[in-house]
Amino acid sequence: MTAANTRALRGRLLEFLDDPAEAGAASSYRYHADGMLVIEDGRITRAGAVADLLAELLPGTPVDHYPDCLILPGLIDTHIHYPQTRVIASYGAQLLEWLHKYTFVEEQKFGDPAHAAAIARFFLDELLRHGTTTAAVYCTVHPASVEAFFAESERRKTRMVAGKVMMDRNAPAALTDTAERGYAESKALLQAWHGRGRQLYAISPRFAVTSSEAQLEAAGALLREHPDVCLQTHLAENHEEIATVRKLFPHAKSYTDVYDRCGLLGPRSIFGHCLHLADDELQRLSETRSVAAFCPTSNLFIGSGLFDRARLRDPARPVRISLATDVGGGTSYSMLRTAGEAYKVLQLQGQNLPPLDAFYLMTLGNARALGLEAEIGSFRIGGEADIVVLDPCATPAMAHRMATVDELEATLFVLMTLGDERAVRATYVLGELAYSAS
Ligand SMILES: [Zn+2]
Repeated sequence: MTAANTRALRGRLLEFLDDPAEAGAASSYRYHADGMLVIEDGRITRAGAVADLLAELLPGTPVDHYPDCLILPGLIDTHIHYPQTRVIASYGAQLLEWLHKYTFVEEQKFGDPAHAAAIARFFLDELLRHGTTTAAVYCTVHPASVEAFFAESERRKTRMVAGKVMMDRNAPAALTDTAERGYAESKALLQAWHGRGRQLYAISPRFAVTSSEAQLEAAGALLREHPDVCLQTHLAENHEEIATVRKLFPHAKSYTDVYDRCGLLGPRSIFGHCLHLADDELQRLSETRSVAAFCPTSNLFIGSGLFDRARLRDPARPVRISLATDVGGGTSYSMLRTAGEAYKVLQLQGQNLPPLDAFYLMTLGNARALGLEAEIGSFRIGGEADIVVLDPCATPAMAHRMATVDELEATLFVLMTLGDERAVRATYVLGELAYSAS
């Protein structure tokens, strides 16, 4: 190994080893106030204290030194829509009206591969600028939208999880497929892209309102054929949506049961929102190890409701939880800002979100939710070197507040409460600098 493909990062090194809520705060993370990460050929080969690692560094190895900045695994977003970069900040509607009035209009443009490619470029620039290196992404119903997205992600070597939206009813004709076509197109895209470089496929029926039972069954069949693939959809976001699902599926016991009957629940299934669920629905999500994606800025902006973390985590039937932006229903690409809003949503219910829990979720927790903890989300040796460098003094207000802060947890809380993309000093993808603030 020569120094040519070796690089080191130096700063305040923080990674999570486990969920602080389960393992206890003290043993959930590893922190080096003056730490170093050594990267060779895009993979992490060493992580530890500078005092231990500096002496064994090969002469001539470039060291990117970020004094006073935190170096963390790249942030992970478990639910986001790349075709909605021009839907974000659309005024005055709740879910079903918001979809028809804004989203379905914008998504029709993605049949044009040139448009899809241009938006994919903007979207991935934006994610990296916000320190997000992996996301679970909805494309549109058009296979071209998926091709464009994966092609752009492959060019940047980012690890992305994405899929074609399946919709065969209750949407404009230009945005609908059929049960058969949705299956066939999804399968072809899955076979072309899943595991190609760092790209991973996600089977993506939008939600029960826009998919017939036959289509959801087809999605379930595809999942059974490819159990290593993620499935993503929406669940129990809004009361009108839930009433519509009840009418569309009169034989189902509940909204969750609609998906359950089609075999869509499981350890790689990510359900966006999960705001209004009965106990038996939470029980099934828990039994199947399904994941509920908490999307606080979206839930506040679209007026959908408050995610009840304590209820979902009930030890009698705990549901796995991830954290996500849900742009364009969500109002920020920033996982830091998303964590800050999650804290407020929980405060409104007499709960809160300790900063260690929030940063666990943004890194290792979300990697686990996507089944990717062997590849990303920590500094494990041999893991992929996707890294974010965060500056807790990035703005005058943050620097001013940090003057009275010296311990780690308080620093993290300042970052999630006052921080956003301005706090991102640098983002690395497979050990290469992909974004730098300076
Ligand atoms: Zn969504």
